Amino acid sequence: VAKRLEKFKTTIFTQMSNLAIKHGAINLGQGFPNFDGPDFVKDAAIQAIIAGNNQYARGYGVPVLNAAIAERFRKDSGIEVDPEKEVTITSGCTEAIAATILGLINPGDEVILFAPFYDSYEATLSMAGAKIKSITLCPPDFAVPLDVLNSVVTKETRAILINTPHNPTGKMLTKNELEFIANLSIENDVLVFTDEVYDKLAFAAEHISIASIPGMFERTVTMNSLGKTFSLTGWKIGWAIAPSHLTWGLRQAHAFLTFATSTPMQWAASVALRAPESYYEELRRDYNAKKAILVDGLKEVGFIVYPSSGTYFVVVDHTPFGFPDDISFCEHLIKEVGVVAIPTSVFYLNPEEGKNLVRFTFCKDEGTLKAAVERMKEKL
Ligand code: GLN
Repeated sequence: VAKRLEKFKTTIFTQMSNLAIKHGAINLGQGFPNFDGPDFVKDAAIQAIIAGNNQYARGYGVPVLNAAIAERFRKDSGIEVDPEKEVTITSGCTEAIAATILGLINPGDEVILFAPFYDSYEATLSMAGAKIKSITLCPPDFAVPLDVLNSVVTKETRAILINTPHNPTGKMLTKNELEFIANLSIENDVLVFTDEVYDKLAFAAEHISIASIPGMFERTVTMNSLGKTFSLTGWKIGWAIAPSHLTWGLRQAHAFLTFATSTPMQWAASVALRAPESYYEELRRDYNAKKAILVDGLKEVGFIVYPSSGTYFVVVDHTPFGFPDDISFCEHLIKEVGVVAIPTSVFYLNPEEGKNLVRFTFCKDEGTLKAAVERMKEKL
C-alpha cells in the first residue's frame, strides 16, 4: 500500500459490521438503517431503469437532479444557486469530500479538522498531502473552543472542514460558532468545506448552513447526500454545492475519480428531493422516537450519555463499566453482550483522546433498539 495510506486500516465501520455478523451481535455500529427507503423513491428508480436511463450520466449530474438539489438548497438555506455551474453530483458524500479535497488542496496546504472526525477526512487529506491540524471537541457539550480555533487559524490555513450535525457526537454547530468560523475564514482568506449529510436529522436546533452567512458562499463547499435522509445509504448519491471557481476544481477531481455516478439512481434522487415537507417531518418524528428508546435505555444501563442534538448517533462514556479503553470495551460488548458499537479513538489524531467514548446508532427499528438495550441491561 502507498505510504500515504499506510497508517489507515480496514475502516472501523467495516471491521465492526463484520464482527457483528461473525458474533451474531445486534449492530448499532455502522450508520445504516435496517429498514428500507420510501416506496415512491424505489419505484422512481425502477421506472428510470425501465425507461432506459442506463448509460453514463452527464459527468456533473443528470440535469433534473442538479435542478432538484438547487431547489432544495434554496428552500433550506435561502441561497439561490446555479444548478449547472454550482452543483456537482458525486458517488455519495464521501466522493464529494474526496473530490473537494483533491480538487482544491495542494500538497503541504494546511487544513483544520475538528476531532472526533469522520474517518474519510483524514484519509483523503492524507492522499492530497495536506498538513492536518486538529482541534478537539470535548464532552459534555463538544463545543468549539473558540480561543483555540482563533490561535490555530492563520494566513497559512487553506481550509477548515466542518461537519454539522456532527458524526459521531450529534453536536450541532451553534449560530455563534458558525459566525466565529465565518469571520476567521473571511479574515484569513480560508475555504470552508462543510459536510451536512445529517441536516434533516436535526432534533434540538435548526440546522444552519455556513454558506448562508454573509460573505461565506463564495468560499464554501457545502456537501450533502441522499443516503441518510431517504434511508438509502447503498445508493451512494451525494453532491457538492460551491461557487463556480471552486466547483471547477472539484469537478476536475470528480471527472477522474468516478467520472459520473449511477444514472437511474440520479433520476430517482430527483424525485426523492421533491418530497413534500411532511416527509421530512415524519422522518424527524420517527427518529425522535427511536432516539428516546436508545438514549433512555443507555442511561438505564448505566452509561454517561452525552446529549445528541442531531444525526442518528449518540456518544456515551463507557468508563462506569471499568474497561481501560474504547476498543476493549467494544470487544467485550460484541463477544459477551452481543451488541456492536463504534470505538471513537480512530476519529482522533491522538487516539488517547477518544478512549472513554463509544458511539451507538439509533437508525434501527424499535424492536432492535429495545433488544440491544435488554442485552446490555442483562449482561453488562
Ligand atoms: N457514515 C457511516 C457511519 O458513520 C459509515 C459510512 C462507512 O461505512 N464508510 O457509520
